Amino acid sequence: MTTNILFAAKAERWTTYETPLTKALTGAGIDFDLRTEFAPEEVDYIVYAPNSDVQDFTPYTRLRAVLNLWAGVEGVVGNETLTVPLTRLVDHGLTQGMIEWVMGHTLRYHLGIDGHINGQDGIWRNVAPPLAQDRKVTVLGLGALGAAVAQALAGLGFDVTGWSRSPKEIDRIHCECGPQGLQAALSEADIVVLLLPNTPATENTLNAESLALMPRGAFIINPGRGPLIDDDALLVALDSGQIAHATLDVFRIEPLPADHAFWAHPQVTVTPHIASETRASTASQVIAENIRRDLNGEPLLHVVDRTLGY
Ligand code: NAP
Repeated sequence: MTTNILFAAKAERWTTYETPLTKALTGAGIDFDLRTEFAPEEVDYIVYAPNSDVQDFTPYTRLRAVLNLWAGVEGVVGNETLTVPLTRLVDHGLTQGMIEWVMGHTLRYHLGIDGHINGQDGIWRNVAPPLAQDRKVTVLGLGALGAAVAQALAGLGFDVTGWSRSPKEIDRIHCECGPQGLQAALSEADIVVLLLPNTPATENTLNAESLALMPRGAFIINPGRGPLIDDDALLVALDSGQIAHATLDVFRIEPLPADHAFWAHPQVTVTPHIASETRASTASQVIAENIRRDLNGEPLLHVVDRTLGY
C-alpha cells in the first residue's frame, strides 16, 4: 500500500527538499506519495517544521509519526494535539556544520585573533597564545551536537569538560552532570559553549549566579537557544568584565530586534542563527530511514521524550 507523506514546512523548504527527499525515499525502497497537500485523514507521516501551517494534528487520524526537520523541538513538543511519536533531526551534516562553527569561534578567542585584527597600530605585541591543552573549554549539553563538538575540541588538544542531565562517559572529556555538576563545569572554564535544548529546566542556565561561578574574563559561545541565557545578567557580566566577550547565534526573539543591546555592545558578536542548518541531502536520508524503520516494525530513531521536552 502507498505511504502518504505530507511535507509541512515553509514553501521555500519544499523547493530544497523535494528532490533529495524523493531520492532518499526511493532509495529506502518505500512505495510513497510525497506532497505538500493531502486530505488530513489520508496522511501516514508528516515531515515537519514547527513554523509550518500545521498546528492542529487532530484531523490527522491515521498519522503514525511526525518527523521534525530541526534538531530543536521546543516549537512542537508541547502541542497537545500531537499524540503520535515525534522524532527530531540528528544528521551528520548538521553536526559537522556545528563543529566547524564552534571551532572557528573557539579559536578566535583562544588565539586572541581580535587583538591582531584590531591592533594594527605599529606596536609589536609578540605574546604567543597558550597551547590548546592549557585552555579549558566547557560544553554545556552532551547530546548529538554537544558530544561531537566536545570531541572535536578535545581532538585539537583543548582541555574539555562537558555537562549533561544524566551521567556520561566520553573519551577525553571530563563529564559532569545534573545541577550539582554545573559549578564544577563552569568554575574553571575559559570558554563555555552552550548546546542545550530549550526546555523549562534549561532556561537561564547562565544567570547572574552561574555567570559569577565562571573565572573572571571568560568567554561565552551560544549556538544552543536564546533562553539558555538571562540576557540582562549577561549584559551586567559583560559590563563588569566578569565575561570578556560573548558570541551569540540564538536569541529569545529572532530576528534579534534592531534596537537590542546585543547589536551595539562592543563585547558581543551576533550571528543570525546560522551556526548550523539542516542539510537537505543528509537530512532526507535520516528521515527516509526512519520511515522505512517504522514501516518495517523497527523502532524509530531520535524519538523525543515529551516529558523532558527534548
Ligand atoms: P540532544 O541530542 O537532545 O542533546 C541535548 C543535551 O542537553 C543532552 O546531553 C542532555 O542531557 C542535555 N540536557 C538537557 N536538559 C538538561 C538539563 N536540564 N541539564 C543538563 N543537561 C541537559 O540535542 P542536540 O542535537 O545536541 O542539539 C542541542 C540543541 O542545539 C538543540 O536543542 C537546538 O536548540 C540547538 N541547535 C542550534 C542550531 C543553530 O544553528 N544554532 C542548530 C541545531 C541545533 P542527556 O544527554 O543527559 O539527556
